[in-house]
Amino acid sequence: MISRRHFLASSAALAAISACARKNAPKRFSITMDDFNLNVERRQTIVERNEGVLSAMAQHNHKGAGFVSGQWVDNAQGRAVIQSWIDGGNMIGNHTYTHPHANKLSVADYVANIEKNTAFLSAIDGTSPKLFRFPYLDEGGTLEKRDAIRAYLGENDYINAAVTVDTFDWYIDGRMGERLKSNPDSELSGYRDYYLASALKLAEHYNALAADIGRAGTPHTLLVHHNELNGLFLGDLITHFKANGWEMIDAKTTFTNDIFKVQPYTLNKGRSVLSVMEQEAASIEKMERRPFPVKEFGKADMDALGL
Ligand SMILES: [Zn+2]
Repeated sequence: MISRRHFLASSAALAAISACARKNAPKRFSITMDDFNLNVERRQTIVERNEGVLSAMAQHNHKGAGFVSGQWVDNAQGRAVIQSWIDGGNMIGNHTYTHPHANKLSVADYVANIEKNTAFLSAIDGTSPKLFRFPYLDEGGTLEKRDAIRAYLGENDYINAAVTVDTFDWYIDGRMGERLKSNPDSELSGYRDYYLASALKLAEHYNALAADIGRAGTPHTLLVHHNELNGLFLGDLITHFKANGWEMIDAKTTFTNDIFKVQPYTLNKGRSVLSVMEQEAASIEKMERRPFPVKEFGKADMDALGL
């Protein structure tokens, strides 16, 4: 049960003030890219995919953040990819070594997994091993475990690089992969168009939601993955966001925002931190929750489009 004592979002009064602020608040986002699973090549080679992503960010003079799991990059090619990100001025953060669910490991094993990746990253100059993102945004299945992991992170100076906008790009990439498996020459523009539209819809949703809880203008961390969808279309995505009034903000600046210090009482369960804070605000303040714009990662929408 959440009590007022636990309620770390904002009050209804702040939300009312934000109705004003909402109009003038900038819409800002950073690219935060997870996993770096370099074992999947379809239309692009890994080198092409990585260049596609890096050149998209560089063209917009944007410095993002990558969150790597060592299991996928602990080899010559992986190190070269990490180095290319650092050379481009991007951050490289920690995403555990084997990408486990926190709710499936003991706290000791989970912490060991984090530390293994910290050791891996620490051997590479220019990485940020203490900038940590939970795989699956799973912070632990129970309050006790979540709090134990949270305490470890706090005592060891880790920052929880929380996600504010989950784009579900992995789902679209998965379906695009199935299509390419059945026909390697498939036209992919439908996947691009759907990705741009749905990611923007989700970003607008979370941006409105941030204002609802008194945090208009929150710089967003857009969760995307190092996959072929982004190797091909990240540049188009950025252009689309900018055409719709969004500005880019370097990840390093974004992570100094105090939303990354918020530790909601409610379990995260794989969600945007804004969704957790909205749930708490709604339960305390009787605020009506904003309908979520994309059901089941967009399954029915993609079915309807024949993707
Ligand atoms: Zn991940």
